[in-house]
Amino acid sequence: MRIALVVGHDRIRQGARSSAGVKEFSFWHTFLHTHIADIAGTGHTFAIFTRSSSLTKGYTAKMKQLHKEIDEWNADLAIELHFNSSNNRNINGWEVLSSGSYLSMRYARIVSFYANLPCRGVKVIGKHGRGGGFLHYGKAPAIILEPFFGSSSSIDYTLLKKDIVAFLRNIQRDNAAVNKI
Ligand SMILES: [Zn+2]
Repeated sequence: MRIALVVGHDRIRQGARSSAGVKEFSFWHTFLHTHIADIAGTGHTFAIFTRSSSLTKGYTAKMKQLHKEIDEWNADLAIELHFNSSNNRNINGWEVLSSGSYLSMRYARIVSFYANLPCRGVKVIGKHGRGGGFLHYGKAPAIILEPFFGSSSSIDYTLLKKDIVAFLRNIQRDNAAVNKI
Protein backbone atom coordinates (compact mmCIF):
# COMPACT_ATOMS: atom_id res chain seq x y z
CA MET A 1 0.00 0.00 0.00
CA ARG A 2 0.97 3.62 -0.51
CA ILE A 3 0.60 5.32 2.85
CA ALA A 4 0.84 9.08 3.37
CA LEU A 5 2.14 9.90 6.85
CA VAL A 6 1.20 13.43 7.83
CA VAL A 7 2.85 15.31 10.69
CA GLY A 8 0.05 16.91 12.75
CA HIS A 9 -0.11 20.74 13.05
CA ASP A 10 2.59 22.81 11.37
CA ARG A 11 6.05 24.21 11.88
CA ILE A 12 4.76 27.48 13.34
CA ARG A 13 1.71 26.34 15.31
CA GLN A 14 2.98 23.04 16.65
CA GLY A 15 0.04 21.86 18.77
CA ALA A 16 0.02 20.59 22.35
CA ARG A 17 3.16 20.35 24.50
CA SER A 18 4.04 17.05 26.16
CA SER A 19 5.15 16.62 29.77
CA ALA A 20 8.66 16.23 28.30
CA GLY A 21 8.33 19.73 26.78
CA VAL A 22 8.07 18.66 23.13
CA LYS A 23 5.23 19.83 20.90
CA GLU A 24 3.24 17.58 18.58
CA PHE A 25 4.74 18.76 15.27
CA SER A 26 8.35 18.46 16.50
CA PHE A 27 7.68 15.11 18.15
CA TRP A 28 6.19 13.43 15.07
CA HIS A 29 8.55 15.09 12.60
CA THR A 30 11.53 13.71 14.54
CA PHE A 31 9.84 10.35 15.21
CA LEU A 32 9.04 9.68 11.56
CA HIS A 33 12.45 10.69 10.28
CA THR A 34 14.23 8.70 13.02
CA HIS A 35 12.18 5.53 12.53
CA ILE A 36 11.57 5.63 8.79
CA ALA A 37 13.76 2.52 8.25
CA ASP A 38 11.69 0.47 10.76
CA ILE A 39 8.48 1.79 9.26
CA ALA A 40 9.62 1.03 5.70
CA GLY A 41 10.37 -2.51 6.94
CA THR A 42 6.61 -3.06 7.20
CA GLY A 43 6.56 -3.47 3.40
CA HIS A 44 4.56 -0.40 2.39
CA THR A 45 5.60 2.66 0.43
CA PHE A 46 5.61 5.78 2.58
CA ALA A 47 5.90 9.49 2.06
CA ILE A 48 5.96 12.05 4.85
CA PHE A 49 3.77 15.13 4.33
CA THR A 50 3.47 18.36 6.29
CA ARG A 51 0.73 20.94 6.01
CA SER A 52 1.39 24.55 5.03
CA SER A 53 2.43 26.81 7.90
CA SER A 54 0.97 29.88 6.18
CA LEU A 55 -0.42 32.34 8.72
CA THR A 56 -2.97 33.70 6.26
CA LYS A 57 -4.55 30.43 5.09
CA GLY A 58 -7.26 28.82 7.24
CA TYR A 59 -7.48 25.16 8.30
CA THR A 60 -9.86 24.19 5.48
CA ALA A 61 -7.67 25.71 2.76
CA LYS A 62 -4.58 24.03 4.23
CA MET A 63 -6.33 20.66 4.36
CA LYS A 64 -7.50 20.95 0.75
CA GLN A 65 -3.97 21.78 -0.38
CA LEU A 66 -2.50 18.93 1.68
CA HIS A 67 -4.99 16.42 0.28
CA LYS A 68 -4.34 17.60 -3.27
CA GLU A 69 -0.67 16.65 -2.76
CA ILE A 70 -1.61 13.32 -1.14
CA ASP A 71 -4.07 12.50 -3.95
CA GLU A 72 -1.45 13.37 -6.59
CA TRP A 73 0.90 10.92 -4.87
CA ASN A 74 -1.86 8.28 -5.23
CA ALA A 75 -2.10 7.33 -1.57
CA ASP A 76 -4.20 4.32 -0.56
CA LEU A 77 -4.41 5.66 2.97
CA ALA A 78 -3.62 8.96 4.71
CA ILE A 79 -2.63 8.96 8.40
CA GLU A 80 -2.21 12.14 10.44
CA LEU A 81 -0.24 11.83 13.68
CA HIS A 82 -1.00 13.69 16.88
CA PHE A 83 -0.86 13.12 20.59
CA ASN A 84 -3.62 13.77 23.05
CA SER A 85 -3.61 15.89 26.18
CA SER A 86 -5.58 15.94 29.41
CA ASN A 87 -5.47 17.75 32.75
CA ASN A 88 -5.44 14.30 34.33
CA ARG A 89 -1.83 13.09 34.12
CA ASN A 90 -2.92 9.50 34.76
CA ILE A 91 -4.85 9.18 31.48
CA ASN A 92 -2.93 7.55 28.64
CA GLY A 93 -3.46 5.30 25.62
CA TRP A 94 -4.45 5.26 21.97
CA GLU A 95 -7.35 7.16 20.49
CA VAL A 96 -8.09 6.82 16.79
CA LEU A 97 -10.25 9.26 14.84
CA SER A 98 -12.15 8.15 11.74
CA SER A 99 -14.42 9.78 9.19
CA GLY A 100 -16.77 6.82 9.69
CA SER A 101 -16.40 5.63 6.07
CA TYR A 102 -16.08 1.87 5.60
CA LEU A 103 -12.34 1.82 4.89
CA SER A 104 -11.47 4.52 7.39
CA MET A 105 -13.26 2.53 10.12
CA ARG A 106 -11.62 -0.68 9.05
CA TYR A 107 -8.10 0.77 9.25
CA ALA A 108 -8.91 2.57 12.49
CA ARG A 109 -10.07 -0.62 14.21
CA ILE A 110 -6.82 -2.45 13.48
CA VAL A 111 -5.14 -0.52 16.28
CA SER A 112 -7.14 -2.32 18.95
CA PHE A 113 -5.84 -5.69 17.70
CA TYR A 114 -2.16 -4.84 17.74
CA ALA A 115 -1.62 -2.19 20.40
CA ASN A 116 0.42 -2.93 23.51
CA LEU A 117 -0.45 0.48 24.92
CA PRO A 118 -4.04 0.76 26.18
CA CYS A 119 -6.61 1.53 23.49
CA ARG A 120 -9.45 3.92 24.28
CA GLY A 121 -11.22 3.20 21.00
CA VAL A 122 -12.25 4.79 17.71
CA LYS A 123 -14.13 8.09 17.55
CA VAL A 124 -16.08 9.07 14.45
CA ILE A 125 -15.63 12.77 13.63
CA GLY A 126 -17.85 14.82 11.31
CA LYS A 127 -16.57 17.26 8.68
CA HIS A 128 -16.74 20.19 11.12
CA GLY A 129 -15.37 18.34 14.18
CA ARG A 130 -11.80 18.37 15.48
CA GLY A 131 -9.61 17.01 12.65
CA GLY A 132 -12.67 16.72 10.38
CA GLY A 133 -11.03 18.47 7.44
CA PHE A 134 -8.22 15.94 7.32
CA LEU A 135 -10.63 13.02 7.68
CA HIS A 136 -13.15 14.17 5.06
CA TYR A 137 -11.45 16.25 2.32
CA GLY A 138 -9.20 13.67 0.62
CA LYS A 139 -9.88 10.91 -1.89
CA ALA A 140 -7.88 8.30 0.06
CA PRO A 141 -9.40 6.96 3.28
CA ALA A 142 -8.01 8.91 6.22
CA ILE A 143 -7.49 8.33 9.93
CA ILE A 144 -5.93 10.32 12.75
CA LEU A 145 -3.77 8.47 15.27
CA GLU A 146 -3.31 9.76 18.81
CA PRO A 147 -1.36 6.85 20.31
CA PHE A 148 -0.65 8.46 23.68
CA PHE A 149 -1.38 11.41 25.97
CA GLY A 150 1.51 13.86 25.96
CA SER A 151 0.22 15.07 29.33
CA SER A 152 0.80 11.65 30.89
CA SER A 153 3.56 11.42 33.48
CA SER A 154 4.67 8.04 32.08
CA ILE A 155 5.08 7.60 28.34
CA ASP A 156 6.73 4.42 27.07
CA TYR A 157 8.34 5.49 23.79
CA THR A 158 9.73 2.00 23.08
CA LEU A 159 6.23 0.52 23.19
CA LEU A 160 4.93 3.44 21.15
CA LYS A 161 7.35 2.65 18.34
CA LYS A 162 6.50 -1.06 18.54
CA ASP A 163 2.78 -0.31 18.36
CA ILE A 164 3.09 1.92 15.33
CA VAL A 165 5.24 -0.57 13.46
CA ALA A 166 2.81 -3.42 14.39
CA PHE A 167 -0.13 -1.33 13.24
CA LEU A 168 1.48 -0.57 9.87
CA ARG A 169 2.62 -4.14 9.42
CA ASN A 170 -0.93 -5.44 9.86
CA ILE A 171 -2.84 -2.87 7.91
CA GLN A 172 -3.04 -4.60 4.51
CA ARG A 173 -6.56 -4.88 3.19
CA ASP A 174 -6.24 -8.60 2.56
CA ASN A 175 -4.72 -9.45 5.93
CA ALA A 176 -6.52 -12.46 7.43
CA ALA A 177 -6.89 -10.88 10.87
CA VAL A 178 -8.22 -7.68 9.39
CA ASN A 179 -10.86 -9.56 7.43
CA LYS A 180 -12.34 -10.75 10.70
CA ILE A 181 -12.94 -7.18 11.88
ZN1 LIG B 1 -2.84 17.66 17.69
